[in-house]
Amino acid sequence: MIFDFFGTLTPSTPEATWDRHAAQSAAPLGIPAATWRRALDDSWDERATGRLGGLTETFRALALRCGADPAPGPLAASCRARRRCQQELFAFRPDTEPTLATLRANGIAVGVLSDCTVELSEAWPELPIAGLVCARVLSCEEGRRKPDRELFLLLARRLGVAPAQCVYVGDGGGRELSGAAGCGMTPYMLRAGDWHDNKVHDREQAWPGPYLGSLAEVLALPGLHPPGSA
Ligand SMILES: [Mg+2]
Repeated sequence: MIFDFFGTLTPSTPEATWDRHAAQSAAPLGIPAATWRRALDDSWDERATGRLGGLTETFRALALRCGADPAPGPLAASCRARRRCQQELFAFRPDTEPTLATLRANGIAVGVLSDCTVELSEAWPELPIAGLVCARVLSCEEGRRKPDRELFLLLARRLGVAPAQCVYVGDGGGRELSGAAGCGMTPYMLRAGDWHDNKVHDREQAWPGPYLGSLAEVLALPGLHPPGSA
């Protein structure tokens, strides 16, 4: 079973949170928060495909685009602020860990496929779900974004299963559900109560279903019994 990360394993992130976070990493650089927020938004594709490098290199490049040339101290302070803010985004839904743990206890392989930037890649080993995830594919490590079929196929390979055996669960960012369906996976849109609060790129607004109303509902999906079980 494959899960999207943001807005799926984690709650949705309201717009105000993005603004607040941008302001915190803008301040040490002396860049207006709105300018910095725009630089972050405009560079989403580059950051999500890892083209700007690690966080320090990324922030140096973005600061230069904003007309600043930060000294090492302010640049490091900005990166620290960013990592603190990102930690807030790595908080999971209440049913995430129990659901993943139940899947694993039932012999189901669990994968994560995320369009994300280098901060998640760096923080991954410390995440409380890291030990529950059998394989991950992160866009910033692969240089591709959803719905690139190579990402889906790569994760199936890492999980050691055929794409047709995979159930894919996501909130619909990056046209991920069509991407999953296009390589033979069975996709479900997670449409939890906070679905409308999430700012996502390329959301699949017209997805006709099927839907899940909560993450824990995956435990009731048909066909999830491991090989050899009754
Ligand atoms: Mg998502």
